[in-house]
Amino acid sequence: MPVQLHATSSARPRWQQELADAIRDPAELLSLLELDPALLPAAQAAAAQFPLRVPRGFVARMRPGDPHDPLLRQVLPLADELRPAQDYLVDPVGDLEAMRAGGVLHKYHGRVLLVITGACAIHCRYCFRRHFPYAEANAAAGGFAAALDYIRARPDISEVILSGGDPLVLNDRRLSELARQLAAIPHLRRLRIHSRLPIVLPSRIDADLLDWLTGTRLQPVLVVHANHPRELSDEVAAAAARLRERGVTLLNQAVLLAGVNDDAEVLVELSERLFALGILPYYLHALDRVQGASHFNSDQALRSLLPKLRARLPGYLVPRAVREEPGRASKTPLPY
Ligand SMILES: *Cc1c(COP(=O)(O)O)cnc(C)c1O
Ligand code: SF4
Repeated sequence: MPVQLHATSSARPRWQQELADAIRDPAELLSLLELDPALLPAAQAAAAQFPLRVPRGFVARMRPGDPHDPLLRQVLPLADELRPAQDYLVDPVGDLEAMRAGGVLHKYHGRVLLVITGACAIHCRYCFRRHFPYAEANAAAGGFAAALDYIRARPDISEVILSGGDPLVLNDRRLSELARQLAAIPHLRRLRIHSRLPIVLPSRIDADLLDWLTGTRLQPVLVVHANHPRELSDEVAAAAARLRERGVTLLNQAVLLAGVNDDAEVLVELSERLFALGILPYYLHALDRVQGASHFNSDQALRSLLPKLRARLPGYLVPRAVREEPGRASKTPLPY
């Protein structure tokens, strides 16, 4: 592990510098990867609707010169996004319907999801929250007071999920304060984090984060989000090892994406590589039908992929294939 060289307390943690240094300009991304500048006008047009954002460490895992690189495809804005598609909605999973007190999403028994920020370290083009009105629905407003009151008043809630956006873009001072207040609610057992940062910005898993995440009586669960085995670099492996050393349960959710991972070989390798890092595959989500993402749809492939995965992998490395449907009591398991 690299030694932390910042001696002064005013220095920002390394992850915050990397976050601030993320690539936001499509022209810079294309030039770094030696890609055809002809891709630029479309990238700029689509980025005007949902900006480009990608950490440099993630770009370093892409293949230069390959416009079809599966990691690039997740972040490069394309003209396809601007094409209207039937049945693709602004809020495909009914989040606004399920929104309770400020930033609290309560859809399922026993667990609530807190939207605590709208920001992410990376902008995934297929994201189902790309149109979400974060300014109106954010549990962090008012020091989480409304969300904490909501949870305190409901003894059947045993697990709180921190989500967003990406909850780990908040600083450790705020997150540790939130963890402390949650731990003081007697009926809570688990603290779950849904974050892509351990994958796209693994330096986020530093000593301060480990301290608050494992420093309360709540059992910590971290659900990361990787879609392709090449996302799991040595730095990601080291971050996963730090988390496991401290007893954090690690799970992965992936989204089935055309041109990224709609291929049995890729999904088998993803499961294998995840397990080598101590991360269990949890969900494989069918794409949510959000406006601007129709070119990622791969529902047809799901049908044939799942039997192939089951034929190739031990049962515990086959992710649960699900779709999120508004109004259901859980994610809907797919019948393949
Ligand atoms: C997906 C989701 C959860 C978590 O569901 P699990 O099946 O427990 O992983 C919880 N709340 C909301 C609102 C969700 O969308
Ligand atoms: S990190 Fe998650 S919430 Fe953020 S853009 Fe990607 S999929 Fe969406």
